[in-house]
Amino acid sequence: MTPPPPPETKLVGTGAAGGVAIGPAVVIDTVEVEIPDTDDPVASFNDAMAAVQADLVRLQEQARNAGRSEAAEVLGAQALMAEDPMLADSVAAGVAAGATLDQAVTDTTAEIAAMFAAIDDPYIAARATDVVEVTDRVRHHLAGVDSTDLGAIEVPSILVAAAITAAETALLDPKVVLGFITEAGGPTSHVAIIARSLGVAAVVGATGVVEMVNSGDAVALDGASGDVAIRPSDETTAAFTARRDAFAAAREAAARFRGVRVTLGDRPVAVPANVGSRDDIELAIAEGADGIGLLRTEFLFLDRAAAPSEEEQFEFYSLAAQGFDDTVVIRTFDIGGDKPAPYLDIDPEENPFLGVRGARLYSQESDLFNTQVRAILRAAVHGDVSLMLPMISHVAEIRSVRAQIADVAQQLADEGVAHELPPVGVMVEVPAVALVADAVAAEVDFFSIGTNDLTQYTMAADRTNGVLDGLQDPLHPAVLALCKLTADAAHRHGITVSVCGLAAADPAGAVVLAAMGIDKLSVSARSVNPTKSVIDSLEAATAERLVQPVLAAASAQEVREVVRSESAAA
Ligand code: PEP
Ligand code: MG
Repeated sequence: MTPPPPPETKLVGTGAAGGVAIGPAVVIDTVEVEIPDTDDPVASFNDAMAAVQADLVRLQEQARNAGRSEAAEVLGAQALMAEDPMLADSVAAGVAAGATLDQAVTDTTAEIAAMFAAIDDPYIAARATDVVEVTDRVRHHLAGVDSTDLGAIEVPSILVAAAITAAETALLDPKVVLGFITEAGGPTSHVAIIARSLGVAAVVGATGVVEMVNSGDAVALDGASGDVAIRPSDETTAAFTARRDAFAAAREAAARFRGVRVTLGDRPVAVPANVGSRDDIELAIAEGADGIGLLRTEFLFLDRAAAPSEEEQFEFYSLAAQGFDDTVVIRTFDIGGDKPAPYLDIDPEENPFLGVRGARLYSQESDLFNTQVRAILRAAVHGDVSLMLPMISHVAEIRSVRAQIADVAQQLADEGVAHELPPVGVMVEVPAVALVADAVAAEVDFFSIGTNDLTQYTMAADRTNGVLDGLQDPLHPAVLALCKLTADAAHRHGITVSVCGLAAADPAGAVVLAAMGIDKLSVSARSVNPTKSVIDSLEAATAERLVQPVLAAASAQEVREVVRSESAAA
């Protein structure tokens, strides 16, 4: 008699890339591979490193040709690591001290990975994964064992792994990978980055998942909520299928808004995109976003040992500027808080979110800031560019930073370098700025409300502290009251006001913010058309009815209830 199949198991990881996927699992085997002894271990190792380096360059090329520039960047970084004498020297020293090649490679990997992992910066710490991935390829090469051939998957499947390497993903065909579930990783992990760039659903941090699943088992995942069901019952499958269908139907319905301008009554509401990378820019173009409402430039500054050069920045900002007829808002670097740069002397322990962050850094790091401003002013020649300052707290800061920008413009003029001085706006993310919004509006060309930070500062709840999730709803009436003060002040001064925090992509948030008079809702590229669809179906009369009850509500839940009941009554 065949034993009954193991029962359904559910777990919750971290949602890393939206979408719902249901399908058979392919569990990635992470069996240890032993390196055989050779006569000349150091020469064998060096030959294997050279072969792996060449493989990585080829995979990088493959990824680039497939239009997956972020995967290509990761592979490029690994190719460089495979050339780094640090690895070869350490292995040679181990062998000289009497270790077998297998032991020397194991020790070297552990030592160098631990060195990276100990650095108190999530981006550098993530390089530990690169070391492990590179030496693992070397290990497979020396043992004559193929790495897991993900390129051979033919049936649409869900990958389940302790971790999927960046190199492996270069072999994936996005058409057959419905989703990822991994034990390792957070939102900044490679798997999450690559899943987003592939546009597949992903759940990371699913501890223990590899033990629970066998290849071929049915698996369902929700990349937004982080829910995973292994061998789902008929009932669970039906629930995930309903979620998947709702997600697909909403996407499909929204697709008809690609490139369409939406209005609330006769007032235009623009829906530009938030971007942080080349892939994001390409996606925003493909989705027909109304320009870029937030280019988070700091991502160019974080994952590296030294700051990007003026030329590198100029190229990136120009690419964004040239991609759109609409305005491209380039935010100067918002380093600090959970985004420390290793080469700056700002200890994240001493400088958490309430510390030296964003514009608070610009006078002390004037070389870094001036170089960035040079690149932005030069790129402004190539499109409709605006410059935006993050983490502004008061008027004196704006005056001082604007003086720095004017000096840079003068310098470029003196050098005869083509440039343009773009409109300068500020993020409204510190409650103090919203409370004196009239005074601030008189100093700037536009406002953009960062509801992510405005919520954490208004609610006194660190945005990275999962325990405080209940205090992070940007639809709290206190946050909305600050948004309303900001919008009214902007309009009194004839300037535009956007929202570029996550609240703009929340359907109820989009409704409330548009109803309050927000001119632009800047959301991630994949949310552009769903957000346009929400605004398109909002009646002006409903919007008008909403504002007072929303501001009079006592909690975010009440706000959401008001939106539901007013929308239903329309
Ligand atoms: C915000 O704070 O809402 C915002 C858009 O900026 P970031 O999320 O980059 O801090
Ligand atoms: Mg912010």
